[in-house]
Amino acid sequence: MGSTAALSERIREAGLRATRPRLAVYSALESLGGHRSADEVYDHIVLEDEPLSRASVYNALAALTSAGLVLNADAGPGRALYETATAWHHHAVCRLCGEVSDVDCSVGSKPCLSPGGEWGQIDEAQIIFRGVCTACLGRTGSVHH
Ligand SMILES: [Zn+2]
Ligand SMILES: [Zn+2]
Repeated sequence: MGSTAALSERIREAGLRATRPRLAVYSALESLGGHRSADEVYDHIVLEDEPLSRASVYNALAALTSAGLVLNADAGPGRALYETATAWHHHAVCRLCGEVSDVDCSVGSKPCLSPGGEWGQIDEAQIIFRGVCTACLGRTGSVHH
């Protein structure tokens, strides 16, 4: 958690100007926590005194993501999620409840995987693990082989 001053400090340290939209988006992601879609961020900001346009939210997310302050977690088709980045990590998505969980990256920095053969220059590898989460396994009470 950070005060507005601390958040704008972090934005400046990442080499960005701490504009109001960037600050609003960054602090919304901080206070929401977890993995959030651009729409969830927008819905959160709309409740504030000086709401931003949807386009400003998208632009701010893009700027924060390329500065490395926000991680774009690709959780599958139509599910671009954002979170305030701490360490590079991967995600596991439950097929039943859709819950997105963090999975530690054994390397901890990107790119942690490279494709076989020659492709070009890789700067990031996002792994999505899919299956059934512990909670859903407990709920269905099944899967004993
Ligand atoms: Zn689940
Ligand atoms: Zn995550």
